[in-house]
Amino acid sequence: MTYTSWYECVRGCGRRYSIYEIVYRCEDCGGLLDVEHDLDALRDRSPGEWKALFDRRTHTHEWPYGSGVWGKKEWVCPQVAPENVVSMYEGHSNLFWAERLGAEIGLPDLWIKLCGNSHTGSFKDLGMTVLISVVKQMIADGQPIRAVAAASTGDTSAALAAYAAAAGIPAVVLLPRGKVSLEQLIQPIANGATVLSLDTDFDGCMAIVQRLAENPEIYLANSMNSLRMEGQKTVGIEIVEQFGWEPPDWIIIPSGNLGNISALGKGLLMMKALGLIERLPRLVAAQTEHANPLYRSYLTGFKTFEPVRAKKTLASAIQIGNPVSYERAVKVLRAFNGIVEQVGEAELADASARADRTGLYACPHTGVALGALFKLLARGEVKPHERVVVISTAHGLKFSRFKVDYHRGELEGIAARYANPPLELPADYDAVLAAVAKLSSPAV
Ligand SMILES: *Cc1c(COP(=O)(O)O)cnc(C)c1O
Ligand SMILES: [Zn+2]
Repeated sequence: MTYTSWYECVRGCGRRYSIYEIVYRCEDCGGLLDVEHDLDALRDRSPGEWKALFDRRTHTHEWPYGSGVWGKKEWVCPQVAPENVVSMYEGHSNLFWAERLGAEIGLPDLWIKLCGNSHTGSFKDLGMTVLISVVKQMIADGQPIRAVAAASTGDTSAALAAYAAAAGIPAVVLLPRGKVSLEQLIQPIANGATVLSLDTDFDGCMAIVQRLAENPEIYLANSMNSLRMEGQKTVGIEIVEQFGWEPPDWIIIPSGNLGNISALGKGLLMMKALGLIERLPRLVAAQTEHANPLYRSYLTGFKTFEPVRAKKTLASAIQIGNPVSYERAVKVLRAFNGIVEQVGEAELADASARADRTGLYACPHTGVALGALFKLLARGEVKPHERVVVISTAHGLKFSRFKVDYHRGELEGIAARYANPPLELPADYDAVLAAVAKLSSPAV
């Protein structure tokens, strides 16, 4: 059986394109394009056969199927030739049972999907492997692509630069100056990308890169390009797989440009369509108060949508006021009886630090998702007996400044309830002994 996929207009006008065409919006109606798959062809395997195949590949190193993304190649990007796949064996990240944090908040079945444990330290690797592989295939087929380019809040550019470098394809990244962490800034520099630091915000960078990509030799790698969503959608499939093919009750994800809440829904809907699951979890998109256009729209029942000017937030990867995938996200939230919640700066910072006290090392975006969970649990929306997965989207090590400033009590307007500053002592045994005598239990 040959499996296939194509781009199709999300507005339902029916227009289709090959995934090898350089097109980011429907030429008839301006709608975004989603990748669609030939589901009838995929029905040649029973749900049990798909599960067995995916499980088996999880434990192999047969190129490229050992990757969490490419282990599901038929569902992700069937056309690309294995020799053009650019993979760093992304996916298969730990689903961490947050036993102590769950016990503290009265939610014993709490799990954190540690997507930051990946090559470039964020879940953006899942999608970038697909996009760069398709570009490598297009170049192999003779298309004149000179570079791949993206605007980024820091993690997309890191993933783009690494995968492009591995493939030997030039990369151009546009970053909002002063709005990405030092770690995120140095990643694409180290990987040899052309790094353009612009005096604007993400939305400003996005407007410029879209114009750059009007030249077909510059291939656009932002999530407007739905190839990335095909890789990102495997996170939901993988969570269900890790629970022995049982969906949890809730999945909570921090959301900015809204490609990922959309992709999460897409993967789960595909599982349902192909009979691998019977019921869907409920989804929560978590935003920061400083960049909350989806939350505001949710309050109107998605009747209206107004882009906002995103304010500075510690959760810098989701500081986005005009999300590209708004239409996709609304469809998904409706299909999953979804909720949008928002949290403030102190809430996200304290939530990260509190999680860290129980053995995690949460990035600020994970703090947004955790903060939203704390609110939903307090409101009784999430019930204590339910199984909840929080998607941790990046590694805390990419946000050292955030952690340092928090523990120094130097985050403006934040009381830092869980700060744990080091004690500076003379090199004196009695002083050390006195400090150790005051040892408090880490359980706050
Ligand atoms: C990209 C990103 C998100 C949000 O994904 P969107 O598709 O922009 O909504 C959340 N957290 C981190 C760390 C990210 O890099
Ligand atoms: Zn259309």
